Amino acid sequence: MALKVLLPTALRHLAANQDEVQLSGGNVGEVMRGLVQKFPDLRKHLYNEDGRLRNFVNIYVNDEDVRYMQEEKTPVKEGDVVSIVPSIAGGNLTTIEETATKVELSNDEIKRYSRHLIMPEVAMEGQKKLKSAKVLLIGTGGLGAPLGLYLAAAGIGRIGLVDFDVVDFSNLQRQVIHSTKDVGRPKLDSAKEKILGINPHVQVDTYETMLRADNALDILKDYDIVIDGTDNFPTRYLVNDACVLLDKPNVYGSIFRFEGQASVFYAREGPCYRCLYPEPPPPGLVPSCAEGGVLGILPGTIGLIQATEAVKLILRKGRTLVGRLLLYDALEMKFRELKLRKNPKCPLCGEHPTIKALIDYDQFCGITPQPVAAASTDESAFEITPEELKARLDRGDDLTIVDVREPHEYEICRLPNSILIPLGQVAARMHELNSADEIVVHCKMGGRSAKAVKQLREAGFKKIKNLKGGIDLWAQKVDPSVPRY
Ligand code: ZN
Repeated sequence: MALKVLLPTALRHLAANQDEVQLSGGNVGEVMRGLVQKFPDLRKHLYNEDGRLRNFVNIYVNDEDVRYMQEEKTPVKEGDVVSIVPSIAGGNLTTIEETATKVELSNDEIKRYSRHLIMPEVAMEGQKKLKSAKVLLIGTGGLGAPLGLYLAAAGIGRIGLVDFDVVDFSNLQRQVIHSTKDVGRPKLDSAKEKILGINPHVQVDTYETMLRADNALDILKDYDIVIDGTDNFPTRYLVNDACVLLDKPNVYGSIFRFEGQASVFYAREGPCYRCLYPEPPPPGLVPSCAEGGVLGILPGTIGLIQATEAVKLILRKGRTLVGRLLLYDALEMKFRELKLRKNPKCPLCGEHPTIKALIDYDQFCGITPQPVAAASTDESAFEITPEELKARLDRGDDLTIVDVREPHEYEICRLPNSILIPLGQVAARMHELNSADEIVVHCKMGGRSAKAVKQLREAGFKKIKNLKGGIDLWAQKVDPSVPRY
């Protein structure tokens, strides 16, 4: 049966510069074998060593993607058109190239981007691609701040921002898109203002919401590239899964103290986040930046690596971090690189995917909210508010105050006459406490102290309470002279 096979630009030089070939066969497998017989140079581009079609080669019969069917056995009939679409020319990034042929740069824009335009790797063509690109930033915090500023300056045409937080004083040490005067404002408002201040040619779209399984696909679908600037595991898996389902590249970055990681997860070309980390760590094992701290400059370094990767994906220049995990250690000033492989058994992007829709990510990451009624009665019985504690201390009640934060936090601020026993030492040092005394335990926000209270209760301490909201709420409600950090 005679039919037509369309070849993509990238492969034509291996097929005598033809863009279409007449072949025959009863199914896709036969047609493809005929093709590589005719043009043997195509074989290694289309098939791997085991003779299987490469993951990033998509085959369409007429307009139907046959990737998830059995390519080999998909029948074809007289007059069908078989198209070969390798990822380099396919998918969402093609849309950028198509749009780029239709956009123009104004004289103002030509002046603004002149240092790009004189580089052969960018030039007018590349700058038009940047202008045509739609990039979504999940989070406008530590990573989102440098990303937003530099991507705007570089001339990305449309930047989407997802965040629901307000600017806090403790953000200013690293989130350079927000200023001191923005404290208390929604981060989205502040970030949008800075982006437009740098480049009024950018279209900024804001989504004031938490990214959730029920809104993620809707928000992500309009963008070419998604950049993950989140700081929690449920959102990371959510972003990854949504990107794989929508066939979009996910530019990944993460930061902790002096260390960072970056990669590009793009399932059609390489592994996804689940190939790297099939399971999230148990809750509480990996501390967040809010708990463990982060060097203020570090998100700048990692965020700009992510921005660089996004620009390379748009320009289709250089070698991206697809299939590579970049590790950065600021203390040693060292970069290392790990090779990442696609996991053929990946439940999301593997050969037999079992995840075909978004799931419940809190549950997946082990963050199951406790039943409200049970939790509140149970916990409130062992809680004391800062106001109650103040009243009791003023009354002269004899209370033992135990601070379970770390020594460097104790140096920043402390409650009068408190005893420092960091959470990790509670078990070993509980003999220093008298179970007959009334004890109030506190930390910064109330999380670690709740764990300490539980430990002590299990060890037989009965007259024990957790300071609700920690020393942070104490500073807000009782003593404004206590510094908040
Ligand atoms: Zn995967």
